[in-house]
Amino acid sequence: MTSLTFYGGISTIGGNCVIVEESNTRLMLDNGMCFSSEGDYYKDFLSPRTNNDLQDYLKLGLIPEIPGIYGKEKINDVCLEDADSKSEYLFKADLISYEDYIEDNSTPYISALFLTHAHLDHVRNIMFMAPEIPIYCSEITKRLLEIICDLSDYDFLNYSYREKGERSDRSFFPGSIFKKKSKKKRLLETIAPNKPVEIPEGKGIFKIEGYPVDHSVPGSMAFKVTTKIGKTIIYTGDLRFHGHDHEKKNSEDFLNKVGSNPDI
Ligand SMILES: [Zn+2]
Repeated sequence: MTSLTFYGGISTIGGNCVIVEESNTRLMLDNGMCFSSEGDYYKDFLSPRTNNDLQDYLKLGLIPEIPGIYGKEKINDVCLEDADSKSEYLFKADLISYEDYIEDNSTPYISALFLTHAHLDHVRNIMFMAPEIPIYCSEITKRLLEIICDLSDYDFLNYSYREKGERSDRSFFPGSIFKKKSKKKRLLETIAPNKPVEIPEGKGIFKIEGYPVDHSVPGSMAFKVTTKIGKTIIYTGDLRFHGHDHEKKNSEDFLNKVGSNPDI
């Protein structure tokens, strides 16, 4: 059986995130911030804690509670051992990490993530995801993510986290654990038109084909997922048909090439 789970993007602006599942194997399509619900809590100078942002987002229901995708350092703060039972909840999330999921199941919860385009409501949450999860997008989207990293605080190319350092009397709270900033590089792959990607590689549960479409950001792609049991799912991301002629041609070509009568 093939199943689809929508974690956002329904009756709201943003938070796009879909998981396709078959044969106990999963594929994620986009994982972005939800503009409307996030605006209810954070605005101007109000923002989540720097070292515990994922935990804040999860507690407020602003990020999907999906097991096995977020890095262990984002789930549990390195200073958790210093917290007493009353304040422990501030430093850990009640969710299984990427590492713990693999230890229990010998396989990752999701095999890969495909990004349709570089808007924050489709990509922002990758910053919390374990860097070992392969991310696929168009070459232009990859370049845009690199540029966003150069020009803003969003670092989509790396998984940034805090490591446990020495206890120090010179820290802000004397005797507490020092937190070292660390980074791991993400697996950012590209997908090109007419070059399908097989996920997981060698097992072929999913075949993903990318189609350039027109949207307000260059490099946007729609995806056609064909599953091993023969289901077809079309995921458009955002697309438009009202751009300049040379732009909207991409969206029209997509409709002509993608085939008719998909299952979804
Ligand atoms: Zn968009």
